Amino acid sequence: MLRNKVCVVTGAGRGIGYEIARVFAQNGAMIALVDVRFPENFHFPYGEFRTYELDVANFDQAQDVFKNITDDFKKIDVLVNNAGITKDNLLMRMKKEEWDSVININLNGVFNVTRAALRSLLKSEAGSIINIASVVGLMGNAGQANYSASKAGVIGMTRTLAKEVSSRNLRVNAVAPGFIKTDMTDKLNEKQKEAIISQVPMSRLGNPEEVANICLFLASPMSSYVTGQVIAVDGGMTMY
Ligand code: NAP
Repeated sequence: MLRNKVCVVTGAGRGIGYEIARVFAQNGAMIALVDVRFPENFHFPYGEFRTYELDVANFDQAQDVFKNITDDFKKIDVLVNNAGITKDNLLMRMKKEEWDSVININLNGVFNVTRAALRSLLKSEAGSIINIASVVGLMGNAGQANYSASKAGVIGMTRTLAKEVSSRNLRVNAVAPGFIKTDMTDKLNEKQKEAIISQVPMSRLGNPEEVANICLFLASPMSSYVTGQVIAVDGGMTMY
């Protein structure tokens, strides 16, 4: 489905990003895996790829790294803005550093990377940007004011950029995962997990592959008339 497409995935070292890169590679894509750091024993046995170290919060570094990616691959067709962190606390107790770091990585990072990749993406015959948001950007979540604000910001940026570039056949969509089994949710204790599952009509957490499959749809010609949308992958947690 993605044969000869060059796809860039941020936060691709593990979790959902790794799974998106794997599913794209297994569907024929050439992949630029971007992460703040890769472990020495990093393993990606799924096809043509290169790794690039980038802290998405660093605007200047993003411009340099994307120059290297376009020099190496000659083009970019698909960008997945997936890198993200949580630093949870009730707003009453939230430290400025907790607010700033989440906004800098989750929201400013999407701007920095998209800005760096946009010229190349606009040259693609059928480009696609996929921003990984979250259901909490739609619903809010106690203890996650920083995170939900960053993800709501990503959704606003997605819709705005879709209006700016869709006439050039570059589509921009967001995916809003619910609670997905990764290191990010492993931090939750059993009681917190049970409370979450009780809110999910499908009564379970999701798997990274279930998010990656929606990204594959949004990256491929299967979704050629879909832009400016937010697709929840959440076992029915949000229904509008
Ligand atoms: P994860 O397992 O913590 O993986 C996040 C990846 O992003 C890691 O490889 C991490 O690198 C990388 N990263 C962190 N800061 C970075 C930076 N400044 N620059 C570049 N890369 C950076 O998280 P995940 O659960 O896969 O989440 C992926 C995305 O899905 C995030 O945007 C998250 O908000 C979103 N999401 C997740 C869930 C969920 O339930 N898991 C739900 C909704 C939305 P290190 O390994 O060095 O830390």
